[in-house]
Amino acid sequence: MNEPRYAMAVDTRSCVGCSACVIGCKEENDVAPDFTRDWVTSETRGVFPHLSMELRSERCNHCETAPCVRACPTGSSHYGPGGTVQVNSDKCSGCKACMTACPYGARFVDPRSKTVDKCTYCMHRIEGGKTTTSCQEMCPTGSIVFGDLNDPGSAVSRALGKHEHYTLLPDAGTKPNHYY
Ligand code: SF4
Ligand code: SF4
Repeated sequence: MNEPRYAMAVDTRSCVGCSACVIGCKEENDVAPDFTRDWVTSETRGVFPHLSMELRSERCNHCETAPCVRACPTGSSHYGPGGTVQVNSDKCSGCKACMTACPYGARFVDPRSKTVDKCTYCMHRIEGGKTTTSCQEMCPTGSIVFGDLNDPGSAVSRALGKHEHYTLLPDAGTKPNHYY
């Protein structure tokens, strides 16, 4: 069987900005107080009076060419299962080189461990046999899909095949595995 290539897609037409994804992630992953691994942004588009607002649930993009991995001097930041980007906190010195390198502001230092934290695409759930991430499960509008891009039948492959999509900061050359 082919190695999976994990990706996530967020449907910006149905996201209502309720932040249930953020709460679900905090609960599931014991995220430090006052910090979150995902967040909701809004962007206003168009020219008055023809304006529209887009809501986006954002997180680490699990970039294929990840500058955080390149910048990490200890090997703590690394490519994990299915091409995801993971942090090994045992190896993390807290130097923040990865935070400087990430153009998406996806990382923070957990004040409890003094090591870097960020979205893992819930790899503990996926490797444990579940097929959904916590944010996906919590979303009341079903706006988040996760899966294997190497499987044409996966929910994420089907969503991307059916709808126009984009990634954040494509010019940064990071090749995100997170789509909108
Ligand atoms: Fe690294 Fe930032 Fe890309 Fe996540 S979004 S893989 S932290 S560069
Ligand atoms: Fe690597 Fe940790 Fe330093 Fe980031 S803070 S560059 S993960 S050692």
